[in-house]
Amino acid sequence: MGSLEVERTTIGWAARDPSGVLSPYTYSLRETGPDDILLRVLYCGVDHTDLHQVRGELGNTKYPLVPGHEVIGEVVELGSKVKNFKVGDIIGVGGIIGSCEKCTLCNSNLEQYCSNRIFTYNDVYKDGTPTQGGYSSAMVIHHRFAVKIPEKLAPEQAAPLLCAGVTAYSPLKEFMDSGKVYKGGILGLGGVGHLAVMIAKAMGHHVTVISSSDKKKEEAMEHLHADAFLVSRSEDEMKQAINSLDYILDTVPVVHPLPSYISLLKTEGKLLLVAAVPQPLQFLAADMIRGKKAIMASFIGSVKDTEELLNFWEEKGLTTMIEVVKIDVVNEAFERMERNDVRYKFVLDVAGSNLQ
Ligand code: NAP
Ligand code: ZN
Repeated sequence: MGSLEVERTTIGWAARDPSGVLSPYTYSLRETGPDDILLRVLYCGVDHTDLHQVRGELGNTKYPLVPGHEVIGEVVELGSKVKNFKVGDIIGVGGIIGSCEKCTLCNSNLEQYCSNRIFTYNDVYKDGTPTQGGYSSAMVIHHRFAVKIPEKLAPEQAAPLLCAGVTAYSPLKEFMDSGKVYKGGILGLGGVGHLAVMIAKAMGHHVTVISSSDKKKEEAMEHLHADAFLVSRSEDEMKQAINSLDYILDTVPVVHPLPSYISLLKTEGKLLLVAAVPQPLQFLAADMIRGKKAIMASFIGSVKDTEELLNFWEEKGLTTMIEVVKIDVVNEAFERMERNDVRYKFVLDVAGSNLQ
């Protein structure tokens, strides 16, 4: 990495229009303010939300857009007030890089729901500049939104935990403490889903993977140690599983029929919705009412949740299943993710790529 003057300009891979095709893009970074950290990006996870966003599927994309909110970086420069990190630390940055820092939500580790939250990319920072994500050589972020990556975790391994992992952990941790063996369903075995299976298993749950085909059955049972596998297209299998689950974590990113999944829930069961499906989803009120069932949604997790997850991950000795690629194949990686052809997540080796 060159001098700090050079680092004020960074190069990222940006989408310019709803085709979502990424190509190199040069832009300026703000100065490192007293509370800020300048980081050199090492790795960045590829999340389905990145694909929704570059294509403008969530309706608010501002181009050019550099995605990436599973960022692993090395601290290069610190603001004068930053005491909890030092130069050379390996840190992680997830889905938000700002909030009001004083509301009830911010004060109760729910800053991801703060009405003044600032998204890591596709947003506007307090100084009026567009926020750009981790498919780039460097970022400047407020230290409050960084987490330290435990030394024993390989940095590329930790990347998926910063968004996909915490998206699963945050709603699942409500089912962690009671000592009861919950029966959980993980719907969609992709980036979020595969981490959710590992997390739920490590919490001691009985885990059923609900998948659109039987293609991932062997790996789900053998590598992820799921307890059961249910093919959602099989009417017979779905019928047999009616009223059997305490919760279902729903990660399917396209429109899908909620009633058939709701029928799998026991009385008082919960559908935990995390997929950002860009079209309306439908369900029947009577199905919910008669079973006192609930649909709950959840958005990423707090910095505290992320720190908890990193420790949990290290303590339980878990391993993410990733394919590490250089940034020049990111467009192909998006296509493969869309075709459901990745086990289970791409991580970009940003520092090892030629970004030009
Ligand atoms: P992903 O890797 O593409 O996985 C999605 C999985 O859904 C697939 O592996 C597939 O599993 C299943 N699926 C079923 N039908 C599909 C279809 N027609 N097309 C694609 N997948 C299909 O996605 P992800 O990165 O896990 O993200 C999942 C969703 O969560 C996205 O909508 C993303 O935006 C959202 N998300 C939300 C948050 C949050 O804070 N709430 C955070 C991160 C991501 P099977 O093969 O098992 O059917
Ligand atoms: Zn706030």
